[in-house]
Amino acid sequence: INSRPRSEALYQEALQHIVGGVNSPSRSFKAVGGGAPVFMKRAEGAYFWDVDGNRYVDYLAAYGPIIAGHAHPHITEALTRAAANGTLYGTPTELEIELARKLKSSIPSLDKVRFVNSGTEAVMTTIRVARAYTGRNKIIKFAGCYHGHSDLVLVAAGSGPSTLGIPDSAGIPISIAQEVITVPFNDLDGLKLALERYGDDVAAVMVEPIVGNFGMVMPKPGFLEGLCRMTRDAGALVIYDEVISAFRFHYGSAQTFHEFADQAAIEPDLTALGKIIGGGLPIGAYGGRKTIMEQVAPLGPAYQAGTMAGNPASVATGIACLEVLEQPGVYEQMDALAARLTEGLEQSAERHGIPLTVNRIRGSFSTHFCSHPVTNYDEAQDTDGEQFAAFFRHMLDQGVCLAPSKYEAWFLTVAHTEEDIAFTLEAADRAFKVMA
Ligand code: PMP
Repeated sequence: INSRPRSEALYQEALQHIVGGVNSPSRSFKAVGGGAPVFMKRAEGAYFWDVDGNRYVDYLAAYGPIIAGHAHPHITEALTRAAANGTLYGTPTELEIELARKLKSSIPSLDKVRFVNSGTEAVMTTIRVARAYTGRNKIIKFAGCYHGHSDLVLVAAGSGPSTLGIPDSAGIPISIAQEVITVPFNDLDGLKLALERYGDDVAAVMVEPIVGNFGMVMPKPGFLEGLCRMTRDAGALVIYDEVISAFRFHYGSAQTFHEFADQAAIEPDLTALGKIIGGGLPIGAYGGRKTIMEQVAPLGPAYQAGTMAGNPASVATGIACLEVLEQPGVYEQMDALAARLTEGLEQSAERHGIPLTVNRIRGSFSTHFCSHPVTNYDEAQDTDGEQFAAFFRHMLDQGVCLAPSKYEAWFLTVAHTEEDIAFTLEAADRAFKVMA
């Protein structure tokens, strides 16, 4: 069991200067009983080392972007080279075209893209573009899906806000919240009702095509097909938020995932991207059909800009990260290790009589302390948060780092090994034993 006096001390100091001591609420331990988060000092491959010198196997992967593992030499080299050439120009650069090409060639629904700085910005702008294109105002979203922290999508959002028990954020005018209709995920009847009632005013239906924000949740067969058909029949646009899902399960996006039968029937009009496509540096991107993207300035009337947008370092590390993921066998390896890990976790939980539902999609999975399936946000909420908090702390004390929220996923990276899985399973078995 590790001890973390230096993290405790730094947390007290951080509280004096940084609101809540953290620069994103998801990093606080509020949802797992409070106390000092761990201050990490260094990361390499699948590991973190904290300021007290403890080592952790990392399954947080910085909430997704670090799929190549920490400090991957190819990405570090790209970053070093970019930094030496100047960090920001305010002019176009050649590498932006290369990253755009890479995205387009693996996500066919993207005729044109635009780079921004975060997933939040990417999503926010797809909504503006959809409104500009359709001349309508309302959007429909799904309960528990998180789409960043812009006003419109922070209504019944998942991940951060729900973890903290705040259904909506303060500071969002009722008039804005009224432009958003929320429907349960995987519920086509609910979507049908919403479209029947508000269809003429709906600019877009926004969805995580594979959910990463209340556990890993697959759309039920036919859900995305139905969603796309009904949305288009209503004259609205389909927006996929693939900030988590793109390049997560295979080299491409959820909309091209091989498990979906009819890819043409589930193509969105607009897509928001982020996380992995920056290789660990700040980035976001959005794109879609040419006629729609031509709404964006300087071609069209929908304004969107950014001093930092498409910055040379993020673009360089994004390209390098995708190059790592293009290597043969990379996704198969993460898939196989995640399969071994989840089988072990399930067996171990069962042995100790602890109800556990695992949702695994290739190299990513979520662990829900419950005995029912988790296919929507209600089912994800109806799980044992105290059991999760106990598990989280036992794992942390033994050198395994998970996200401090029962809704977040575990992410395998290119750097994880069989030994890491064995180490993690031993820790989990001891955790379940104590919890039982
Ligand atoms: N969309 C999804 C699906 C996300 O998971 C996130 C972040 N977790 C965002 C958007 C927001 O991205 P960012 O934190 O880069 O603003």
